[in-house]
Amino acid sequence: MTPAAGPTEQPDHDERAPTTVVFDVGEVLIDETRVWAVWADLIGVSPLTFASVLGAAIVQGEASAAVFAHLAPNLDWPSFEAEHERRYGGFRDEDLYPDVRRCLEELVGLGFAVVIAGNQPARRRAQLEALGLPHDAMAMSEELGVAKPDPAFFERVLDLAGSDEPTELLYVGDRIDNDVLPAAAAGLRTCWLRRGPWGQLQDLPEAAEEPDLVLEGLGELATLLTTWRGGTT
Ligand SMILES: [Mg+2]
Repeated sequence: MTPAAGPTEQPDHDERAPTTVVFDVGEVLIDETRVWAVWADLIGVSPLTFASVLGAAIVQGEASAAVFAHLAPNLDWPSFEAEHERRYGGFRDEDLYPDVRRCLEELVGLGFAVVIAGNQPARRRAQLEALGLPHDAMAMSEELGVAKPDPAFFERVLDLAGSDEPTELLYVGDRIDNDVLPAAAAGLRTCWLRRGPWGQLQDLPEAAEEPDLVLEGLGELATLLTTWRGGTT
C-alpha cells in the first residue's frame, strides 16, 4: 500500500485529449457500502468485520469472492444472491458518490461524450437509467457478454462509443487489475480513481506505465480534460 494519492497528475499535453469519457460503475459512480453491508448481514458478521476481511483479500490479490471463503467457508453464498438482491433493492440515488452527477453534467456540457460501462449484472442498467445520469451510451458486462479484464470488454466499449480509435476514450476506473491495466493494454487513455477499497489498497506495478490521470474524486475531471483539450474552463 502506498500513501494516499498526491496532487493530481497532469496529462501529457503532447497527446490529443480524449473525446469520450467511459465510467466504471462500482466505486466510481456507485458507493458500494450497502452492497457489502447486506452481504455482511446475510452471513452474520458485522459490516466492519466483513470490510476488514475484504480489504485483506484485496491486499493478498484475491478475488472479492474470497471474502466468503474466509468468513463462511461452508456457505453456498451464490445461492443467497436472490435474497441479497431483495434486501439490497438495487441502486438508489443516495448510493451515488456526491461528485458524480455534477461531473457528468459538466462533461456533457463541455461536449465530451459520456459512456457508462462496468462489470455488473444486466439489471443494474435500468437501475442506473432510473437515476437520470446524463450519458450517451451505457452497457453492463452481462449485457456485453464479456467482463473486465478481458480485452474484448474494451473492444465492446469502443463499439458502444462508436469509435475505432482507442485513444479517443478515457476509461475511469478504481481498480488497477480490472480497469487501469487492461484499459491501457487496449490502447485507451486511463484515469485511476483512488477511492473505495481497491482504489485505496491496490498499487500500480513498477513496470506499468502511469495512468494518464490519477484522481481522488471526480470534482476536477471536467476541468482537467478541458485543459488537456487546450480550451479554457
Ligand atoms: Mg469499480
